[in-house]
Amino acid sequence: MAPYLDINLKKLQSNAEQLVTMTRAKGIDITGITKCVLGNPKIAACLVAAGISSLGDSRLENIVRMKAANINALWVLIRTPSIGEAHDVVANVDVSFNSELLVIAELSKEALKQHTTHDIVLMVEMGDLREGVLPRDLAKTIEEILRMKGVQLTGLGTNLACMSGVKPSHDNMKSFSDLAKRYEQQYGLTFHILSGGNSANVKWLEEIGSPSQINALRLGEAIFIGRETLSRTHIKGLHLNAITLVAEVIESKYKPSRPKGEIGQNAFGETPSYEDNGNILRSIVALGKQDVCVAGLTPLADIDIIGSSSDHIVLDATRSPLKVGDRVRFGLDYAALLSSMTSPFVANSYTRSLG
Ligand SMILES: *Cc1c(COP(=O)(O)O)cnc(C)c1O
Repeated sequence: MAPYLDINLKKLQSNAEQLVTMTRAKGIDITGITKCVLGNPKIAACLVAAGISSLGDSRLENIVRMKAANINALWVLIRTPSIGEAHDVVANVDVSFNSELLVIAELSKEALKQHTTHDIVLMVEMGDLREGVLPRDLAKTIEEILRMKGVQLTGLGTNLACMSGVKPSHDNMKSFSDLAKRYEQQYGLTFHILSGGNSANVKWLEEIGSPSQINALRLGEAIFIGRETLSRTHIKGLHLNAITLVAEVIESKYKPSRPKGEIGQNAFGETPSYEDNGNILRSIVALGKQDVCVAGLTPLADIDIIGSSSDHIVLDATRSPLKVGDRVRFGLDYAALLSSMTSPFVANSYTRSLG
């Protein structure tokens, strides 16, 4: 049996619904981020059914896949596009996030060619140092954009935590809102979208009392994993393990816990060391680094991961014995979800009840 992801659509929809309720109370709309599920249309449909009307992805291919499956949403490209993508961006998405005038100029050209207007959200760098225009360059960037035809500056966005781990705080979110307010006034603009961040903003969201100016958050991991992402705290009421990974045992034997012979590097350049705990039940599942980021797996039974290579994970199943043919289920962190969803060797299976 090939390893497969067991995707519980009911749990995912419930997670999305609870986050929608939580964000709506603070005047915030969710953009559901589908990149870590490869734009899976069944999952996208769940998000829409939960009341999320805007879907974002970093990859055009994923957006095209969801549109082809007749998912209806406002489509947002959340990775700032490359120059060469301008044609496809204008043709396929409603809004793109941007940080470079050269790219925006291409989008403008393409929009005119395609007789349309393309909406852009300008990303602002608020401290995490990934994408975004520095606040001191914002005014002149906005002025340049306002001079271009075919593109409309529909909002501002910012992204924290992903790259450097900078926490969204009352202070940096307020600075971001203040910038928006200042330039709306200065240029007579209305920003329809003020997109304040990602799943790392959940704590901030819980802590803000009254609605702020920020009216959108982009959430992926919170929905799929059920945790906020600053300290990976379980978000109350959400299902953990809505998506799990299942693999089959292909060998199970009592063998020594300690390898025999002189130890050099393994296949991945590591030099592992193991204690001698006598004989243990070593069970191998048909799952490896080609399928998933093994470090992000948590066995859901009382077994331990001893090690892994391209195609094998070796488990210590001494406490809960496994035999050949048994299926082992793992919980996933973000890296494990992303890697297994994008591996061509891992199948998808769907569960439609909470069970
Ligand atoms: C990936 C990404 C998100 C979503 O992050 P999650 O941690 O999955 O919520 C939001 N915004 C941008 C720009 C991203 O690249």
